[in-house]
Amino acid sequence: MEKKSLKNQETFVSEEEKTLVWENVQNSFEKNFGTEVYSSWLKNINLLKEYNDYLVLGVPTRFFRDWIVSRYLDKILAQLKTFKNSINRVEFKILEEHKINSQDTFKIDDFNKVTEIKDSILNYNRLNPNLNFDNFVSGSSNEIALSSSKKVCEQISRYNPLYIYGGVGLGKTHLLNAIGLELDKKTNVMFISAERFMYHFIKSIKKNDMVNFKDFFRKSSVFIIDDIQFIRGKEGLQEEFFHTFNSLIDKSSQVIISADRAPMKLDRVQERIKSRLSGGLVVDIDAPDLDLKVKIIKKRLEDIQSQFKESSNISDEVISFIATECKTNIRELIGVLNRIVTFSRIHKKILTTSDCKNILKDVFNQAKIITVDKIQNTVSNFFNIPIAEMLSQRRSRPLARPRQIAMFLAKKMTTRSLPEIGRRFANRDHTTVIHAVKTITRLSEKDDEMKKNIDQLRSLLLEE
Ligand code: ADP
Ligand code: MG
Repeated sequence: MEKKSLKNQETFVSEEEKTLVWENVQNSFEKNFGTEVYSSWLKNINLLKEYNDYLVLGVPTRFFRDWIVSRYLDKILAQLKTFKNSINRVEFKILEEHKINSQDTFKIDDFNKVTEIKDSILNYNRLNPNLNFDNFVSGSSNEIALSSSKKVCEQISRYNPLYIYGGVGLGKTHLLNAIGLELDKKTNVMFISAERFMYHFIKSIKKNDMVNFKDFFRKSSVFIIDDIQFIRGKEGLQEEFFHTFNSLIDKSSQVIISADRAPMKLDRVQERIKSRLSGGLVVDIDAPDLDLKVKIIKKRLEDIQSQFKESSNISDEVISFIATECKTNIRELIGVLNRIVTFSRIHKKILTTSDCKNILKDVFNQAKIITVDKIQNTVSNFFNIPIAEMLSQRRSRPLARPRQIAMFLAKKMTTRSLPEIGRRFANRDHTTVIHAVKTITRLSEKDDEMKKNIDQLRSLLLEE
């Protein structure tokens, strides 16, 4: 028998060599994801082609693919690996390609396969009373965003929309929530994440209930939508958002939006939406400086003290240690502080810096295990492109850059060798990985945007 060349990149598995019995895989999906997720989503996945290292799976619609990729891909891959360890990626093929052109021409039939998901799966975005203006600490990195938010509360539709953007964990949701709480006292506020907006959208299409959907979102006097970057690449959703947005602005409802980047940087979002988003006031939140971090820690400690009616055992030295070590993410800063406070309370001990170093070893030493899979998933979610496309041989920049960034992070954040990394990226050569690492290193030195993206990705990967 002829030996198969190992260099062959994509060895298609012939009928008799097939190892996967799709029915068994499906059963394991049901067991591991629960009946609800299974029957709503995973049941509708078909196996189209089996290769040695990847599968081509069929899904009914683009929505389906986006939804599955953004929430379940990691787990699906892990599950597939238990059946066949050589699988390192999946590609999705959309079986009923269709395009939603306007809000009146939805093809309901396309969505009939979307079984209803219980509301409990995605939490409702109710306003959180703990995220208010009183406990939002101001500093030079956020004071413009804070004062603009307060002004909107004083005089509705003076800046319309108000668009707040910034990196992960810098206080965007906190500010949006604070605005919501303030305005909720006098008027009708809708506060929702873009992801949840999409959930309602799909549900209404399925139930043939778009009229209620439109009413529901268009009747509010204040419409706050968090993490709008979620609409990137989702045509139908953008279309609906655009109409909702216009009708709100037309009747002078206040619209407040947050995102992880400036409006014009929202790639794969229609131009008319981008320009609408920039049409009011655009403000950003930057990474906190040392001073703000110290202020936030002190404020938290005061709150904890008054809550537990005990004096804090945290010294100034420890405070400045935490503030220096936590570089940008305020969520992480608070997490670290909580750990230290808890430790000190349990052990009734005044902690030194070196105690803290020990307690936080796992946080700061990055003892966390980061895998190439995890990097690929995080990067593909971040840039909102399917993993299969990121790993494909296509060379267009919107795919090639994320691919290079993922290779760069794999080199920097795992102990894998260059050839190993190459193999994990659809059998590329190690020289391709070297080139990627060099390119991204060079770009992140001279391009602020690239540097910011890399920083954000790193902190996403290090988050718990
Ligand atoms: P984002 O939405 O930008 O990712 P969040 O609003 O969720 O960030 O903030 C992350 C955490 O940090 C929250 O617990 C929030 O209360 C806290 N936080 C952020 N900025 C501040 C601030 N200026 N003062 C007090 N707490 C803050
Ligand atoms: Mg947020």
